[in-house]
Amino acid sequence: LNRLLLFCRPGFEAEAGRELTDAAATLGAWGYFEPAEGMGWLQFTLVGGLDAPALLSGLPLDSMVFVRDWLIVVADITLPATDRVGAVIDGMRAGEPSALHGCDRVDVRVPENNSDADLSRFARKWVAPLSRALRGAGLMGDGGRGDNADRLELLLVDFTRAIAGVSPVNNRARWGMGIPRLKLPATAPSRSALKLEEAWKVMLPQGRELDYLGGGKTAVDLGAAPGGWTWQLVDQGMTVTAVDNGPMDEQLMATGMVSHVQADGYLWRPKRAVDWMVCDIVDKPRRTAAMVSDWFNAQLCRYSVFNLKLPMKQRYEEWLICRDLLADRLADAPFAVKLRARQLYHDREEITCFLERLD
Ligand code: SAM
Repeated sequence: LNRLLLFCRPGFEAEAGRELTDAAATLGAWGYFEPAEGMGWLQFTLVGGLDAPALLSGLPLDSMVFVRDWLIVVADITLPATDRVGAVIDGMRAGEPSALHGCDRVDVRVPENNSDADLSRFARKWVAPLSRALRGAGLMGDGGRGDNADRLELLLVDFTRAIAGVSPVNNRARWGMGIPRLKLPATAPSRSALKLEEAWKVMLPQGRELDYLGGGKTAVDLGAAPGGWTWQLVDQGMTVTAVDNGPMDEQLMATGMVSHVQADGYLWRPKRAVDWMVCDIVDKPRRTAAMVSDWFNAQLCRYSVFNLKLPMKQRYEEWLICRDLLADRLADAPFAVKLRARQLYHDREEITCFLERLD
């Protein structure tokens, strides 16, 4: 088992591959990747140091930014026009059948950028007969452990190829391929609202959301208009200062929970510290990182979610520069911080960061 299937935003395959190459190297493993530009997935082959299960047991998915989810590849299967189920069973037997012993369920995925409705329909319908056949062949558990077990996943690349892999129970995305199905609330002023919701779902410790968001907290939203992020903060019962020269949604302002300040978000500071500062201004990422570090050094907020808009080129390098800039500028602070970053499903050319002061 020396191969991983990585999922990322289509177009960011090289960044995901480089990120895993670097992360593996720090654990003493090395390998290479084959990015297929624009596919939203790529394979990474380990050639030394550790095999794929050992690498994943030492590398939390939470530490990855561009890799949204991953599988330990067990078979790369050529599918015939008929009896595709039989081809999968044969492929599993010929591959690493013992790797499947922890699996209790199978799911079939299609590439994120798939536009073939027939393929999506087939993938959905395929799950039941595949499950029956895999269990019948003694290759997979009976489903009794539900989601508390490894999962077999098949990426149905097209009608002729499926890549099968194991999604490890303790180290995988909360949603398959890292794609959450979130619904935009009817009163949310912009689709951006989904980004902050996803950031919280992905980056706050599960089960502790109320500690972070509840209890009538205070927040500042920099670059707030028209108000999608502010809407999310208000929805959690927070009182919000929305900083933007642009107009805020009237219905949101009518809640009485928001004060609108027309000012430059990079220069404006609150008179009193707040719990949350969020920033969705599209500007140079280093400028945003520096501003956020100033807020933390002055202890003006405890938590922050902010976006770093990546340049057209050198996107991975730019993230590393921003990460180091934040670490350097907070190195002498009298408190520790924790930084997480992720290219969310609802992100485009940006990544979303969550910075927390640990008291
Ligand atoms: N988060 C918002 C939402 O959910 O509706 C969307 C924010 S939009 C991507 C970026 C906003 O940043 C724009 O409304 C723009 O006016 C604002 N902006 C750009 N530069 C700014 C600055 N220097 N200070 C404050 N706001 C700024």
